[in-house]
Amino acid sequence: MKIAVSGCLLGEKVRFDAGHKRDTFVMDDLSKYAQYISFCPENMAFGNPRPSLRLVKNQDESIKVESNKTGEDLSQQLMSASKKDLESIASHPLCGIILKSKSPSCGMRSAKIYQNNGYVEAKGDGVFAAMCREKFPLLPMEEEGRLCNPWLRENFVMQLFAYERFEKFKQNATMKDLVAFHSVYKFMLQSKDENLYRQLGKIVGNHEAKSFADILEKYELLFKTAIAKKSSKGKTRNVLEHMSGFVKNHLTAKENAMLHEQIDDYATQIIPLILPLSTLKLYAQKYEVNYLLEQTFLSPYPKELALRSDIACVK
Ligand code: SF4
Repeated sequence: MKIAVSGCLLGEKVRFDAGHKRDTFVMDDLSKYAQYISFCPENMAFGNPRPSLRLVKNQDESIKVESNKTGEDLSQQLMSASKKDLESIASHPLCGIILKSKSPSCGMRSAKIYQNNGYVEAKGDGVFAAMCREKFPLLPMEEEGRLCNPWLRENFVMQLFAYERFEKFKQNATMKDLVAFHSVYKFMLQSKDENLYRQLGKIVGNHEAKSFADILEKYELLFKTAIAKKSSKGKTRNVLEHMSGFVKNHLTAKENAMLHEQIDDYATQIIPLILPLSTLKLYAQKYEVNYLLEQTFLSPYPKELALRSDIACVK
């Protein structure tokens, strides 16, 4: 899958001080499954080393980009380079964007916005991040600072792989394929947003006899919206309980009790999510409960990423 990434996170020496901010997760873990498309609007506009920049709010509420050293207004140069970088990354079939946090160009809701008197007024999008959010409203997008949080990281990676799978799926999909696709995503969608899952079910139900092209377009919009939602402890617990219902008749009372104890222990953050999921998978394999085994929620991304092994992967 192709992911556009702030060049400094890839270890490229493009920062104002000619340094980098190589990110371990991006470079050592996710890189095994992704091809990165690098961008750096500031380096394109000003080269390096260069004076650092900051965002300043004008009297009319518009925001300008200023040199920290000279106070010169550099908005036009940065806008123009950002547009070029945006065009460049948009020429690839992207499945996501990873941005450097806090940067006046790449920060996503984390770039400091100053008042003219030098005080920080608020935090917002950097120049390039704002353009990305406008151009790709449904594309998985995160900044590296937030990806340090195991729960946000897992949600983002789940979204990336679901997005990529849908992009491949839609190339040759038929109505029958869409029914099957929706079925295998049931528990993952429920872990994100039960209401959107139901709306997606209605689209697939097609009671208004719409054309398949119409249905697929509607499904895509809602599916990509749903996978962008964050799971929660409560929603995940409900999904685990629901899944356990598919194996309960095969289990002894003691085995059922132990499975529910694991689900409770996950919800109270005593054990990580991988434990009840592994138990469910084990029983589904043992008793050949194929409906469960086919569920993407059991394996939403390569297991080697081991994101569900972290006890903090919950909120
Ligand atoms: S944060 Fe963005 S603009 Fe700044 S060095 Fe990294 S890639 Fe370049």
